[in-house]
Formats: sequence, C-alpha cells, structure tokens
Amino acid sequence: MKRQEHKCHAMRCGAPCPPKHLFCARHWKLTPQPLKERICAAYRPGQEKDKKPSKEWLKAALEARWAVARAEVLVSGEYPFAKGGE
Ligand SMILES: [Zn+2]
Repeated sequence: MKRQEHKCHAMRCGAPCPPKHLFCARHWKLTPQPLKERICAAYRPGQEKDKKPSKEWLKAALEARWAVARAEVLVSGEYPFAKGGE
C-alpha cells in the first residue's frame, strides 16, 4: 500500500515534502526568518502524527503561508490562489 504523500502547505504548490516540514524546500526558503524561528520554536515532535500542533505553531504556519504567497506574487506577479479554493 502506498503511503499518502505529505505535500507542501504553500498555496498552489503541492510538492511532496516530509510530514514534519511545513513547506517544500523552495517555499521554506521564501519564508521570512522570524516566522521560520517561530515555527521551529513551536514545533513539537510527533505533532504531524497526532495532528495536534499547538496554537502558536498553527498561527505561525498560517502567517508563513500568507508571507510565502505574498513573496511569490511580488516575484511572479501571478495570482496565488487555486481556482475555487483557498
Ligand atoms: Zn512548496
């Protein structure tokens, strides 16, 4: 049986990445350093298994998602949202 692949949480990405990583390498690079630090500080080993990340982690992850989407718009000028979603 194929294990379900974990995907990058950045908008419109979907690149496979390890479950304990929020983003693929490309999007992690676009994440502002203070947010990276908040995400790492709030990360609890095993949260990706029990799906119970802390509020701090969720908030930082959400902010990172927006920050990365914003960074991508600034770079590409493209609308960052999937059609019908997000
Ligand atoms: Zn990605």
